Amino acid sequence: MVTTHSLGFPRIGRKRELKFALEKYWKGEISEQALLEIAIELRAQHWQDQAGLDWIPAGDFSLYDHVLDTSFMLGNIPARVSGLPGSAIDNYFRVARGRSVNDDSASSCVNAGEMTKWFDTNYHYIVPEFEKNTCFSLNSSHLLEQIQQARETRHQVKPVILGPVTYLWLGKSKDGTDKLDLLDDLLNTYAQLLHELENSGIEWVQIDEPILVMELAAEWKHALRKAYYQLQATPIKLLLTTYFGQLQDNLQLACELPVDGLHLDAITAKDEIAKVIDWLPTHKTLSLGVINGRNIWKTDLSATLDWLEPIAARLQERLWLAPSCSLLHVPVDLDNEQRLDTDIQSWLAFAVQKLNEVEVLAKALNHGRESVAEILQENYVAITSRKQSKRAHQAAVKARVLEINEAMGTRQSPYHQRTVVQRKKFQLPLFPTTTIGSFPQTQEIRQTRHDYREGKLTESEYRQAMQNEIKRCVQEQEALGLDVLVHGEPERNDMVEYFGEQLSGYAFTQFGWVQSYGSRCVKPPIIFGDISQSQAITTEWIQYAQSLTEKPMKGMLTGPVTMLNWSFVRDDQSRADTCVQLALAIRDEVIALEKAGIRIIQIDEAALREGLPLRKSQWNTYLDWAIRAFRITANGVKDETQIHTHMCYSEFNDIMEAIAQMDADVITIETSRSDMELLDAFDQFQYPNEIGPGVYDIHSPNIPSVESIIHLMEKAAQRIPAERLWVNPDCGLKTRNWEEVKPALRNMIAASRYLSSQAARNAG
Ligand code: GLN
Ligand code: ZN
Repeated sequence: MVTTHSLGFPRIGRKRELKFALEKYWKGEISEQALLEIAIELRAQHWQDQAGLDWIPAGDFSLYDHVLDTSFMLGNIPARVSGLPGSAIDNYFRVARGRSVNDDSASSCVNAGEMTKWFDTNYHYIVPEFEKNTCFSLNSSHLLEQIQQARETRHQVKPVILGPVTYLWLGKSKDGTDKLDLLDDLLNTYAQLLHELENSGIEWVQIDEPILVMELAAEWKHALRKAYYQLQATPIKLLLTTYFGQLQDNLQLACELPVDGLHLDAITAKDEIAKVIDWLPTHKTLSLGVINGRNIWKTDLSATLDWLEPIAARLQERLWLAPSCSLLHVPVDLDNEQRLDTDIQSWLAFAVQKLNEVEVLAKALNHGRESVAEILQENYVAITSRKQSKRAHQAAVKARVLEINEAMGTRQSPYHQRTVVQRKKFQLPLFPTTTIGSFPQTQEIRQTRHDYREGKLTESEYRQAMQNEIKRCVQEQEALGLDVLVHGEPERNDMVEYFGEQLSGYAFTQFGWVQSYGSRCVKPPIIFGDISQSQAITTEWIQYAQSLTEKPMKGMLTGPVTMLNWSFVRDDQSRADTCVQLALAIRDEVIALEKAGIRIIQIDEAALREGLPLRKSQWNTYLDWAIRAFRITANGVKDETQIHTHMCYSEFNDIMEAIAQMDADVITIETSRSDMELLDAFDQFQYPNEIGPGVYDIHSPNIPSVESIIHLMEKAAQRIPAERLWVNPDCGLKTRNWEEVKPALRNMIAASRYLSSQAARNAG
């Protein structure tokens, strides 16, 4: 008999109940008690949604983040919150987001814990902090409570904990201490935890060590060995889980660690399963993650059974089935969707549906395919409909991809020639000023877009309202004295969704929310088919904006790699192939803008870096196709058209060469918070084109002073020749208000004027 389980369930609720409860709690509108009651209800619902499984998880729920929960459970709480007033939950939220519900902004706020991406997902965790004298002390009450609650519904409850080595690996040493020096103490605490779990009658514990899919230095491999040799003293059975990739050179290690079971991501590591079965000692359980926990497509159940049946015959009782990873990364329930096209809806599966697939597979293995014949037939129909759908496949798009040639990705002349033409044409001052695209998205703007969507405004009323916004924005920029203007992006809700909505091959859900961090959720659009653009998307707005000014108006587009990385993508072709299609569609838009007389075009690649694979050895493959896609998008223009790109981060030392290969005339990046640290990379590698290092931290309400901007730019000018520097904010201004933006930009422009007059004086 095959056993079924899940590694974790989405926490936010079908209608983002957790988000709304948290926000109310933080505003003081509901009590701590009320918040905790909502958490209890949500968990009860989640277990009900998983009722068909043999084992349900406990401890996968979190009020904010499971890594932060682990830090609190282990007593690793930053010293800066100790002694502050309030309960444990106050400190929990202080570390999560800088303040508790009772802190007012002036007094007891502390620095929030750093937040970073959970492996290659879009979920962010709070980074554990370590110091030389970090000691751990167990407080498992929250976990035990969750187990207790789960036990009220079910007997077979499997607690989920983050493994000790991955926990250390995810954290940051604050004082240079080697994190591994803390392992012994940490293992004692874990041993104590397992002991408590044993006392509460637990049989299996899921212990996550996803770092097993990464390239590990010898000392980390050694730490894994040490950890599990030590923890094997527990009588509890440990299911060691890995996900998000292949084990590769860690395969033998993973098979040999003295645990009772091993879970593998049988989607990304499918090719390794045969080898694992050979290596795995015969007393161990093998859990296969056969349903993709990272995307939203239905599984081809018959094909999966073809593959699984011989494995099940061989492993018998030793085989467990689950989704590949926690379902945290997919939306909750497809049945909520009321407006999806029926074809597309029939191709999808969200968390609830994915668990159902696990159950059907197990039933087919345990009782024969006949026992689920009807479901398999339905699944076959859906899978075939998707494969054959005319809507997913456009011959013209495929033909166009085949015709791509080298020339399409190459500018007519190299940068050093283009820049001469462009300088003559634009006559910009030294240290030219510009912004990244969006201006404040006021309540009015949102309301107008909302009313238009709901049919309360006619198209012409809507257009009029947006043009008024654009006009205001242009007038403000003229008054401030910026050199290269933007239209302000009032018509855009989101930089990916806006373009996706106007391309074929994209679908949008109503409730397809996924947790990004804490209470923040995102709703990635779905790429279901070949991508094409049927008519220009932005030209009308940008042309209108250009008609209001003599200054160059920058046309703003989202790049293909960012469109890809912030969407759920097709699984029937490679990411690279989908990216090329996106590139062609946006290339059309670039060329349309050029034809419409727009002389500067910015193609944002905010998310290029996040697509980097977990293993460094695979970076080049990704960068090759990603950069090629950008080049196809951008490089179909004349020398005199200036291409800008923008990226939302400053750590690109390690990918600097790839970024240079994009060959944008100008790149703007985020740097202000890092005090131009990024520019250290320029010592090793001479970035050949123009660059605008951000001098205004748009994540903060603070207004940068003229002096601070001059200071930052002078630092930049030590590394990059002044004639190749631009002055701009870190990112778009849409989350700020005009009262902040105006003085900040005024200071930015004053700094630029000062710098260019200094340069003129030095030259003269
Ligand atoms: N052009 C976009 C804006 O200004 C860029 C946003 C981003 O980089 N995330 O809003
Ligand atoms: Zn940005």
